[in-house]
Amino acid sequence: MHSRTSTPPNTELNSEGLKNRLDTVQSRIQTALQKADRPADEVTLIGASKKQSVETLAWFAERGVANLGENYLQESLDKQRELAGFDITWHFIGAIQSNKTAQIAQQFDWVHSVDRPKIARRLAEQFEATAERPKLNILLQLNLEGEQSKAGLAADDIMSTLEILADHPNINCRGFMLIPAPQDNESAQRRVFSQARELLESSNAAAGLRMDTLSMGMSNDLEAAIYEGSTMVRIGTDLFGPRP
Ligand SMILES: *Cc1c(COP(=O)(O)O)cnc(C)c1O
Repeated sequence: MHSRTSTPPNTELNSEGLKNRLDTVQSRIQTALQKADRPADEVTLIGASKKQSVETLAWFAERGVANLGENYLQESLDKQRELAGFDITWHFIGAIQSNKTAQIAQQFDWVHSVDRPKIARRLAEQFEATAERPKLNILLQLNLEGEQSKAGLAADDIMSTLEILADHPNINCRGFMLIPAPQDNESAQRRVFSQARELLESSNAAAGLRMDTLSMGMSNDLEAAIYEGSTMVRIGTDLFGPRP
C-alpha cells in the first residue's frame, strides 16, 4: 500500500492510487484463478462500497467495476439514484432487518445476506416479479463456525430454508455467502471455504438444485476463497482504500 504525505482535496480523486488498487486486485484474482486451474472469467469482482463516495464509485464503474455490494439500505438507495446513469448490478450484503425486506427485494439484483428462514420467506412473499426482473437472486449466509456474535444459518438449517424457498418460484437461490472469522494463514482460511463448497454440492444433490454461486473472499482472504471455488469476491478496503 502507498502512504501519502499530503491528502488531496476531497472533491478530487487520487486516481493514481485508485488505479493501482484496481490493477492489484484484478491481478490477485487472475493469479489465484490460474493457480487453481480455473477459467479466467469464473469470479465476479464485487466492490464492497459501504461508506465510499459516489464519485469514487463512478470512477470504478467507468473502468468496468459493474457490481457493487452495499450494507445500508438508505445509503445505498441514495447511491443508486445518483449512479442511475451507470449499468450497475446491485448486491445487498449487509445485515437485514425484517422491516426492510420489501424495499431490499425491489431495489437489489442480488441479496447475499439471507441469514434466517424468516427473511427468506419475507423476501419471497414481497418480491414483485416484472418482465425485466422475473426472479430475485439470493444467497444464504452461512455461519459454519458457530460464532454466536455473527449472523448466518448453521449447516443443519440449510435444507429447511431451501424447502421454504421451493414454494416460491420467483426466488432463485443461487448458493451461499460467508464472512468467516479472520485467520492469519491461508490453510486455516481455506478450511471453512472448502466446507462451504462441499455443502453447496451436497445441498444441490439432496434438493435437486443447481446452485452455482459461492460469495466468499474479502480483501484479506480472496486467494484462499478462489482456491476453494469462490465465484464472487467482495472487496472493500483493498479496492477503494480505507473507508472514510
Ligand atoms: C465491508 C464488507 C466486505 C469488504 O471487506 P474488506 O475487508 O474491506 O474487503 C465484504 N463483505 C461484507 C459483507 C462487508 O460488509
